[in-house]
Amino acid sequence: MTAQLIDGVALSQQIRAQVAVRAAALAARGRQPGLAVILVGDDPASAVYVRNKVKACHEHGLRSVMEAYPATLTEAELLARVAALNADPSIHGILVQMPLPRHIDPQKVIAAIATAKDVDGFSVHSAGALMSGLPGLRPATPWGCMKMIESTGVPLKGRHAVVIGRSNTVGKPMALLLLQANATVTVCHSGTPDLGLHTRQADVVVAAVGRRNTLTADMVKPGAIVIDVGMNRNEAGKLCGDVDFAGVREVAGWITPVPGGVGPMTITMLLVNTLDAAEAA
Ligand code: NAP
Repeated sequence: MTAQLIDGVALSQQIRAQVAVRAAALAARGRQPGLAVILVGDDPASAVYVRNKVKACHEHGLRSVMEAYPATLTEAELLARVAALNADPSIHGILVQMPLPRHIDPQKVIAAIATAKDVDGFSVHSAGALMSGLPGLRPATPWGCMKMIESTGVPLKGRHAVVIGRSNTVGKPMALLLLQANATVTVCHSGTPDLGLHTRQADVVVAAVGRRNTLTADMVKPGAIVIDVGMNRNEAGKLCGDVDFAGVREVAGWITPVPGGVGPMTITMLLVNTLDAAEAA
């Protein structure tokens, strides 16, 4: 069996086309959706992520304001900028790119973002809303994974989903979204003794670890949906995920590639969150 590809670029294009239409409709009513992106320091990877987010906004009719500060910015200064953006009615989403320099407490900064503008969905309030099944902005990466699973047309109700990884930004919210969709969910982590024991029983596997070849063909149930969140480099420096793509695609029913899978969907769902926030404002 060769798995069907879940093409994150193609799915993103479909969703982004709807985003552009909704953004234009809002702008016509005098409320162009606005995203503020704050970058502190000179981490090259962060600079690329931020640039891609800003570019995606511009291409789809959202306004984006990019604020770049040197690593010497103090925590108080950053909190003051967040407060100003909270009060700015032309800004509907605020994103502070992580990681922050060591002298700044990321939890304090995330907590300072107004819940209605928390388009990363990382605040305790947003996480609590997700856990309680209340409406709110969902973290973009797991939200994008849900859209990819939905695109297969396989209903999640009654299926067994295994999430590998339990970070606050990917693994945990992913598990909660799957649970909300009525899957039976298992969460694995570095203390899970026999990962394959769990993944072999899974109709859906989401790998969010950050280690190449964490999921190999012998660990996958035939026909399963495999979503690869990981972003790693192989020996040749090429971008790859957590899944042994060549092997697993021969067993799985659906699989996401890296690159061209979850990555583009993450940015797409950030646009959707900004638009949702603007529509709700
Ligand atoms: P993280 O905070 O480092 O979490 C990694 C998780 O993997 C932890 O829960 C860890 O368990 C678990 N883990 C580590 N080794 C394991 C093993 N051998 N078996 C089972 N679980 C293991 O990373 P993250 O922020 O969630 O990101 C995960 C990956 O996704 C990274 O490669 C990251 O770059 C990528 N990512 C991609 C996107 C995208 O848009 N494509 C977005 C976000 C993240 P413990 O909790 O026990 O330590």
